Amino acid sequence: MDLQFDQQHIWHPYTSTVSPLPCYPVSRADGVYLTLEDGRKIIDGMSSWWSTIHGYNHPDLNNAAKAQIDQMSHVMFGGITHQPAVELCKKLIDITPSTLQHVFLADSGSVAVEVALKMALQYWHSKGQRRPKFLTVRHGYHGDTFAAMSVTDPDNSMHSLYKGFLPEHIFAESPQGGFFEPWQEQDIEDFKEKITTHSQEIAAVIIEPIVQGAGGMRIYHPTFLSKVRQLCDQHGILLIVDEIATGFGRTGKLFACEHAGITPDIMCLGKALTGGYMTLSATLTTSHVADTVCNGEAGCFMHGPTFMGNPLACAVANASLDILAKNHWKEQVKSIEKQLADTLPALTRLGNVKAVRWLGAIGVVELHCPVDLAVIQEVFVDNGVWIRPFGTLVYIMPPFIINQQELSKLTSAIEQALQ
Ligand SMILES: *Cc1c(COP(=O)(O)O)cnc(C)c1O
Repeated sequence: MDLQFDQQHIWHPYTSTVSPLPCYPVSRADGVYLTLEDGRKIIDGMSSWWSTIHGYNHPDLNNAAKAQIDQMSHVMFGGITHQPAVELCKKLIDITPSTLQHVFLADSGSVAVEVALKMALQYWHSKGQRRPKFLTVRHGYHGDTFAAMSVTDPDNSMHSLYKGFLPEHIFAESPQGGFFEPWQEQDIEDFKEKITTHSQEIAAVIIEPIVQGAGGMRIYHPTFLSKVRQLCDQHGILLIVDEIATGFGRTGKLFACEHAGITPDIMCLGKALTGGYMTLSATLTTSHVADTVCNGEAGCFMHGPTFMGNPLACAVANASLDILAKNHWKEQVKSIEKQLADTLPALTRLGNVKAVRWLGAIGVVELHCPVDLAVIQEVFVDNGVWIRPFGTLVYIMPPFIINQQELSKLTSAIEQALQ
């Protein structure tokens, strides 16, 4: 492969053309293994950013994709419907909280978030109220498009760069108490103050349930989320939960909002929806929100991407949900969680480790100082694992099918790299 061409001409996520970092050429992937072009096989600790929950090259997912290609890869969704989309939306309505009854299919997580925010804005417009603001918490991540970025942590996503263009929303302090720590009532105080002060201008609260992903890999107390739901109800404000990273079993529940026993008004899904095969996302909402939106001035929900409801992606998503329905994921995630709980705490004796945390199939090691990405990446690959830290965070969220030895290899590679 022409790696020099890649370096000189191709942007990778958050990379520079001036000082590009090396990329590792991958030629195939099977189960939890990535095969590099030089023949080395390394264990994937990232599930290609939360998505490959059943592992790579899964026969069921392969077969679903192949069968659908021979039928039809794509057809427009305007005025046309098809079995893969109908089946998928039925399944999604079935497994998500029962009040969520309407599904909007889109192409990526960021677009699912844009769609959710637009739904909330159209909802209030229909009700004749001007509510231009969203309330969220710091350290969140909701995507890289503009509206999604506007509710992502202002420092992490450099809001200062886009000042004057990016809408300014309301940020409350992020939850401080960890998932397994005792609940502290003061944790919700800032959020409560912000929602009370601005209650008349807020269209919706948007939040990642229980786990804040790319904005800091923070795992927070379920009571925070149930208080958020209560406060939204109290002020008549919509609640959007962004389950794009947490959905489909990653935290030990099928959806992370189940940890707090809450139901959102709008839910965003993505990442693991197709088992990591195809780009696809979904935004679900209640009949109340959907009908209010559609009874407004526009008379419809104003969105419709070209590749909406792509049959190929829907067919693979259906196969992925069928694998989940067999329920092996519960045992798999539970055993990953147990092994993380048994191994991660020992890492706190290393001088550079500030904290460790875990939940379900997510393990996080937070350091005092940022890592040198190029250096640590090479150490990981030489140790036979694929782990991609950012800033002070070294974290893993492996495919659910990973076995004990493979997971040990990930955690001991972290230990060796930090030593
Ligand atoms: C990844 C992610 C997104 C954005 O999804 P893309 O598919 O990258 O656009 C949004 N919200 C959360 C919580 C995510 O983890």
